[in-house]
Amino acid sequence: MVRGEGSSISAKGQHSLWVILEEEMKKKDIQYIKGDKLKHFGRVNDPYMPKGGRHEIAICKECHAIYRGKKWFLDEELYRANIKKKTSNSVLCPACLKIRDNYPGGVVTLKGDFLRNHKDDILNLVRNEGDRSLRDNPLERIMSINENRERIEIQTTNEKLAQKIGKAVYKAYSGELEYKWSEQNKFVRVDWNR
Ligand SMILES: [Zn+2]
Repeated sequence: MVRGEGSSISAKGQHSLWVILEEEMKKKDIQYIKGDKLKHFGRVNDPYMPKGGRHEIAICKECHAIYRGKKWFLDEELYRANIKKKTSNSVLCPACLKIRDNYPGGVVTLKGDFLRNHKDDILNLVRNEGDRSLRDNPLERIMSINENRERIEIQTTNEKLAQKIGKAVYKAYSGELEYKWSEQNKFVRVDWNR
């Protein structure tokens, strides 16, 4: 059973951080467009997205992800070839910033008796889903996996991966799957139970 598409919760603690980030980005925006006609002044959808700049490429010093042509991707050879060049801007990518700030885009919670008896298999499935996602898009990755006797909690950098993980577990093991969306931003809680 899948429930919850369209329902909402308020994500505690997310909102205040969001406001702070938005204020910071506004300040940056103002600096960035000084001398412009303020035409481009607008809201920022994702405060972790880079604002562009004079450099040809940006490289994340933490995970080696590369930003070029408005896309983030992983390419270790390109990383090694460009990391020391002046045309490369050394930054933290949006995913590494979110990890640093503990600002997840999604949280998946798995629980139930079935989970307790199949923990290793289910964890493997979750990690595989995370690895695949990271290869496709370095901004979509697992931030943390915490487990105790009762549950496994997975934090993801964005809401899409949280949904993908929920769907993958549901597809493999059925059970009950529920999405809870926040109204303020794209944050999602995914709960699976069996
Ligand atoms: Zn990074």
